[in-house]
Amino acid sequence: MTAAEDCLFCKIVAGDIPADVVHESETVLAFRDLNPQAPTHVLVIPRSHHANAAELGEAAPATLVELVSAAAKVAGDEGLGEQYRLVFNTGADTGQTVFHTHLHVLGGRSFTWPPG
Ligand code: AMP
Ligand code: ZN
Repeated sequence: MTAAEDCLFCKIVAGDIPADVVHESETVLAFRDLNPQAPTHVLVIPRSHHANAAELGEAAPATLVELVSAAAKVAGDEGLGEQYRLVFNTGADTGQTVFHTHLHVLGGRSFTWPPG
């Protein structure tokens, strides 16, 4: 699957909706979250459309690995070192609102555990 109709993040990949892009490759794109929950809040997404991380892992495991590598690169570029949180919300009950796989990279402040 490459793109889905009416998918916000497919529209960002296509350039139809603007985004503050901080990293891109042939397979992934990273851009700043519109409603940041930490001083650094970046979303790393595959260019291809999959509903969540598990579906991406089934369809394109190498791209799932690249999402994590890209997240680590973004964290380094943002000066976070090895102090950051990676989150894949999966399902509306966990807070997933955009059903195109995205890895949240959060950092620049302390976090609590368990999450809310
Ligand atoms: P989730 O709740 O895990 O599905 O995450 C979706 C994220 O996308 C939220 O943190 C939103 O703030 C973010 N978001 C929604 N629209 C945009 C947009 N146009 N550009 C950047 N981030 C967005
Ligand atoms: Zn999509």
